[in-house]
This record gives sequence, C-alpha cells and structure tokens, in this order.
Amino acid sequence: MAKLKIVKVGDQTLRTVCKPIDTITPRIVTLLNDMLDTMRNADGVGLAAPQVGVLRRAVVVECEPGTVYQMINPEIIESSGEQEDTEGCLSIPGEFGITHRPMEVTVRYTDIHGKEQTVKGEGLLARAFCHEIDHLNGILFTDHVIRMLDD
Ligand code: ZN
Repeated sequence: MAKLKIVKVGDQTLRTVCKPIDTITPRIVTLLNDMLDTMRNADGVGLAAPQVGVLRRAVVVECEPGTVYQMINPEIIESSGEQEDTEGCLSIPGEFGITHRPMEVTVRYTDIHGKEQTVKGEGLLARAFCHEIDHLNGILFTDHVIRMLDD
C-alpha cells in the first residue's frame, strides 16, 4: 500500500461532483487500499477519493479500529434522528465545527469484491458516512457548519 497526497481546501477537486465507478478494476482496488493507508496515516476516520485527487465515487471509513468500510458508489438510502457534534476534515487541517447530521443512516454500496452491501451506521459512524458521501458531491462540512470552534 502507498500513501497518497491529501488535497487541501481551495482545490477545485474538492468542489467537483464525482463520477460513479462502473467496473471494479485492480486500479480501483489499489486506490481503496491506498486510501485506507493514507487515512490511517493521517489519523482520520474517513477519506473520500476526491481528497486524493480522484474524481470517482469511492470512500473509506474506519471509526473503530479494524472495522473498515471500503465503499464504491455509496448512497444513503435511509436516515433518521438527529445529532449535533464536532466535525473536522483531513482536507481542512486544524479546523473544527459543530454540524447537524442524522443520528442513523443506512448506506447501500458495492464492496471491493463487487458485492452489493447495506450497512446501518449510528452516531459517529453515521456522521462519517454523511461527511464522506458529501465529498463525492463536492460538499464540505464547512458549507453547513452551525458554528466553527475556536482553538
Ligand atoms: Zn472531509
């Protein structure tokens, strides 16, 4: 696995709507594995492909060490409840803010083996799914932050 460079806020890549992945090529699998490596190295809990300069619908999430989601074409198909909590982003280093998110979301996606999966996430995991899927649509948490936190 290789570490990739994380794109920072201000780069147009982060503002572009990403294209779906039609075929899971070895390159896509490598991308998802490199993204996992890059995310762990940066102490993040999620990373989206545009954050490493790839305009494709792929994200990785790992809120609990060892529970890894490598998602291709993820889509939120259900959400319920609400939560307000602190959020940050590897592309916006050192900045944190309070956002409003659903408490629970169900995400449908294709895994790296090409199998369709659905997963329900609650709390932090729901926030991470929402945050990363927002990235695929060119949306950053600072677009809908309730208030930024001072350091
Ligand atoms: Zn982010």
